[in-house]
Amino acid sequence: MLKNYKELKVWQKSYKFCLEIYRITAKFPKEEKYGLISQIRESIVSISANIAEGYGRKQTLESLTPGILGPFSPIRVALTAGRNLSLLKKQINKFKPEVVSVIDDEHAGKLREMLGHLAVPKILSGEGGYREVASWEKTDMVVSAISGAAGLSPTIAAIDAGKDIALANKETMVMAGKLVIARAASRGVNIIPVDSEHSAIFQCLKGHNKKEVKRLILTASGGPFLNLPLERFAYIKLEDALRHPNWEMGRKITIDSASMMNKGLEVIEAGWLFDMDVGRIDVCVHPQSIVHSMVEYVDGSVIAQMGVPDMRGPISYALSYPERLQGVVDTLDLCSVGALEFINPDYAKFPALEVAYTAAGKGGSAPAVLNASNEVAVEAFIEGKIRFVDIALIVNEVLDSHLTKEIGSIKDVLEADGWGRIKAGEIIEKRKVS
Ligand code: MG
Repeated sequence: MLKNYKELKVWQKSYKFCLEIYRITAKFPKEEKYGLISQIRESIVSISANIAEGYGRKQTLESLTPGILGPFSPIRVALTAGRNLSLLKKQINKFKPEVVSVIDDEHAGKLREMLGHLAVPKILSGEGGYREVASWEKTDMVVSAISGAAGLSPTIAAIDAGKDIALANKETMVMAGKLVIARAASRGVNIIPVDSEHSAIFQCLKGHNKKEVKRLILTASGGPFLNLPLERFAYIKLEDALRHPNWEMGRKITIDSASMMNKGLEVIEAGWLFDMDVGRIDVCVHPQSIVHSMVEYVDGSVIAQMGVPDMRGPISYALSYPERLQGVVDTLDLCSVGALEFINPDYAKFPALEVAYTAAGKGGSAPAVLNASNEVAVEAFIEGKIRFVDIALIVNEVLDSHLTKEIGSIKDVLEADGWGRIKAGEIIEKRKVS
């Protein structure tokens, strides 16, 4: 029986239901508690690409492990994947989704064959399939974790369908932040950041007056090349760039972290998420990744969010918001961590960060061009066509030759994205090493 309006609201979001389960099962082992996260929202659509290894993907699903079903209804999870069908098959067996979508018809056909006699979920494919999964009727929250520009269209579909978004795809905001924020606001959709820095800022802003914010301070680990001398940057190899000291993530974002383009994209993302001029968003290198970001208020007070570096923290907060779940990540023992360092970013070593600030300052189509040309350049580096240091040079060259336009529609965004890709491709052809 619902006693008051507040309780009704809680019930509407399924919180009461799951908090009750949580109370009953508080003594269960930690692994089993992750199963509760999904029940908080009753059902989760994870739109994440296996092939792109979006960093939300593996850990989100880990967070959803259905440890405790008991007398309660099964968790409904709708999933997407790219081409990694063997992983998707395992996920289907584990999570029993109602619907899945893969990259194209060919892979959909293969998946049907692989599933054979199993209770088959509805199998869709292509962008239309991703959009259908993202707007699946029975879900109330979508984890947007497809890596790169490909995440934009399904995320828009989810917003249009009124689903709350747990946003792990920063490119959506970089490319089309203005449109996405307006669209979400008009449909009453909450966008809750999954990116650890943005989750930190989101938490540091809670309970404070936004008008009293002086600046946002995004922390950066500095990546694997923080202490590498500048003259060695020309010889960086792919395997070096893929070795991130603190966070386990997909390939694209790991390389973006090594070049600090990731931080640049995050500055732009933060600008849109928190309605803040990028001139008031600073970056501070903090190699220990314990302080996940900070907010400075007008009186000089700085609020920081800390924790052990574990993506399950921000993922679970996005899924359970506004509640917090017990025992999601390990206890932070600051005394055993010891010293925390904070250093200004070195723009000579990490020019990508400056390029991103410049694109943010130009506004309009420039961030979409930045993102597109960076994706193409990172791919070319992975394929061995260019050197690590060429990534920022190419993106800068593309931006220099771009005439910034206003962004009024998704079509404008996709045009800028396409232009940036073609231009970057042309420049890479000229530079190829082999
Ligand atoms: Mg981040």
